[in-house]
Amino acid sequence: MRLSDLHPGQTGVITKILGHGAFRKRVMEMGFVRGREVTCILNAPLQDPIKYALMDYEVSLRRNESSMIEIMPIEDWEDHETDAEKAEHNSTSAHDENSEHAVRHDKIINVALLGNPNCGKTSLFNIVSGASEHVGNYAGVTVDAKSGHVNYKGYRINVVDLPGTYSLSAYSPEEQYVVRYLRNATPDVMINVIVASNLERNLYMTTELIDMNRPMVIALNMYDELENSGATLHYKELGKMLGVPIVPTVASEGRGIHELLDTVISVYELKHPDTRHIHVKMSQEIEDGVDVIRKDLKTEAHVPLHFATRYIAIKLLEGDPEAERMIKEVPDYAKIIDDRNRVAADIKAKIGEDVQTAIAADKYGFIQGALAETLEGNVAHEEKATKIIDTLVTNKLFGFPIFLMAMFLTFWCTFELGSYPMEWIENLVTWISGRLDAVMPEGPLKDLLLDGVIGGVGGVIVFLPNILILYFFISFMEDSGYMARVAFIMDKLMHKMGLHGKSFIPLVTGFGCNVPAIMATRIIESQSSRLITILILPFMSCSARLPIYVLLAGAFFPSHAAIVFFGLYLLGIVVAVVTARLLRRFWFKADETPFVMELPPYRVPTSKAVIRSMWSKAKQYLQKMGGLILVASIIIWALSYFPRYTLDEVPQDFRNSALEEMQAYGNDSVNAAEADQLVLHTYQQEHSILGNIGKFCEPVVRPMELGWQSCVSLIAGMAAKEVVVSTMGVLYVGDDDEAALSKRLQTPSPITGKAPFTTASALAFLVFVLLYFPCVATLTAIVRETGKWRYGLFSLFYNTILAWIMAIATFEIASLF
Ligand code: GDP
Ligand code: MG
Repeated sequence: MRLSDLHPGQTGVITKILGHGAFRKRVMEMGFVRGREVTCILNAPLQDPIKYALMDYEVSLRRNESSMIEIMPIEDWEDHETDAEKAEHNSTSAHDENSEHAVRHDKIINVALLGNPNCGKTSLFNIVSGASEHVGNYAGVTVDAKSGHVNYKGYRINVVDLPGTYSLSAYSPEEQYVVRYLRNATPDVMINVIVASNLERNLYMTTELIDMNRPMVIALNMYDELENSGATLHYKELGKMLGVPIVPTVASEGRGIHELLDTVISVYELKHPDTRHIHVKMSQEIEDGVDVIRKDLKTEAHVPLHFATRYIAIKLLEGDPEAERMIKEVPDYAKIIDDRNRVAADIKAKIGEDVQTAIAADKYGFIQGALAETLEGNVAHEEKATKIIDTLVTNKLFGFPIFLMAMFLTFWCTFELGSYPMEWIENLVTWISGRLDAVMPEGPLKDLLLDGVIGGVGGVIVFLPNILILYFFISFMEDSGYMARVAFIMDKLMHKMGLHGKSFIPLVTGFGCNVPAIMATRIIESQSSRLITILILPFMSCSARLPIYVLLAGAFFPSHAAIVFFGLYLLGIVVAVVTARLLRRFWFKADETPFVMELPPYRVPTSKAVIRSMWSKAKQYLQKMGGLILVASIIIWALSYFPRYTLDEVPQDFRNSALEEMQAYGNDSVNAAEADQLVLHTYQQEHSILGNIGKFCEPVVRPMELGWQSCVSLIAGMAAKEVVVSTMGVLYVGDDDEAALSKRLQTPSPITGKAPFTTASALAFLVFVLLYFPCVATLTAIVRETGKWRYGLFSLFYNTILAWIMAIATFEIASLF
């Protein structure tokens, strides 16, 4: 019988894992090992993937993956299992392996945070170092090492936050990254963060770290969840048993941090009574095999001893590619590998199981033994709230509508709620420019301040509230655990595009900013899926584009702004989907990746964490305003201001045609002097350096009846999309300087009588902005993350050409109405 044959509510016991390679390894690390009970919980809306409960947590697998796991109905298993087998593995032995760490007295301690994804490492890191790194309730939030430090009791403790991994075998990029980090940076003390409410699986990686034999402390995080469940863990005893001190913490509230740091210091100074080296004892056959390889490693003087030989030996026995790479340079490499192969074959013959499976099973056996002695009660308490919410949000009927509603609510609030504080800031900006206008003498400096700085930066800064609201919703979805469910319900659809449900998470994060979202694609194991996700990410409308939407949708669709808004985001998604399908069809061959993803219990985000993250977003935005946007505005202003002309320099025919236009429009409210002033102003702008550039590229936007100013704004927006708005702020200066930009865009020109935008051209412009050239930062991220220029170039040309075609189409369709 296969796991996929289980119906919701049924339970089976695992007897064998079929398949091989990364899939097999991954599911075993996740706890799918022989003898383990698995319960099928529910199917995703489209029958795939399926959610299972295993040990204390929930995990989703695709149907074809769960069909690779052989099970036995639980009733049959009970007769089958003999008690003797169970008891055998669970013994530890104290052992002192060349304890070479001398007592150190320097006052700097380098600490690394290690642990499963989503165990609270980043929360802990933020509390300890006062940083505000990205926290989220799903696996794969942190993809890079982040470092910070804290001065504590006379020590400088440098902390590094690493990506989460389920084990140390180098299959995924994160695992490789973590192992290499440990090898190259050799932290003084490792803090292994484990989730108190999900001990078994978390301790798996702990056993691997124990093999490394390095100074270590365990942070028993989410201790609040353990307490609430009513179970007790005698963690002191467990710590003694493992030879690693354990400190309970609640990272989200900052509990237990001092104790943790104290313990780090005493472990560092080799003073902690609980620290000792143990061996996680495996079955005799395996231990014998490990000894053979260790002997090889020891007699070979050149083996780089970054890690304990026991660790390397076990990893070699598991066939870990990174371990093989580690000893590649050794002269006896061939002999060691030969021995390894022989020993592995021996073990397989003796115990009838391959070594990888046997090691995982033995380690889990060890963990179960240790927990049997120290854990009282059941941590797997019914997560009632999680269950109820999940039956709703992953429901066949309601799953998708709920997600769409959540997105709509997000954009509606971003627009509607955001419009109030936006108005306040707008009024403030108007007031400041009015004051400056009144007190400053005429001249270039006044023009620079009013038109360049306030016109540009002031035009963009008003959107800060909208952006914060948008980020608030995204981080709420991430932090609560809803995002993991979205990936779950989307997997089938994403699979149709040859992608993975996990791809959906960076896509939603991309609504915030594309750059971190591109980094976040590292959670996607399959290379081709990852590349496709990266290439479609720029179509996810980032928050920098938001100001343009708020501006134009607010000005031209005042009663339907939220719908236009939501429609743009949807259009971005649709274009992304179509692009993904095309890419999969014509460029990237399909490759299967397992959909093994944890569905963590829902957690209410703490206000502390929310405020911290909002504050850091606001700071980032203001810094961008004061830096890039300010500089860009000044440059744009200068380019449109120079060279200066006087009225005499305006050619007669320009003047005549302008006056004719004015007459045709029927504008007779201006006297001759004012008309001259208008003509000069227009001539000045059109013949400035920027005007010449704009005139040159105007034909590109002419089909949408957009002026050269909008064309220049689009070009300037390549630096950063906010610059589109700030440039418009600088260029669309009418006679009424202080009016808000949205008003200026609708005001008809006194000469031609035409406003800069019509409803149709505004819509076309919005579509163009949504789709065209990703900003420089995004482009750089694409090139850096893929390592290839061609993907950046593809993004540049494909997106821009597509944007142009779609914008013209939009204009034509909108003009019909
Ligand atoms: P990482 O993936 O290991 O870096 O984990 P994060 O720091 O991103 O946290 C994962 C989730 O767990 C977030 O939603 C946190 O708010 C939450 N969290 C972290 N520590 C605790 C804790 O001690 N108790 C509870 N209840 N939640 C926590
Ligand atoms: Mg993290």
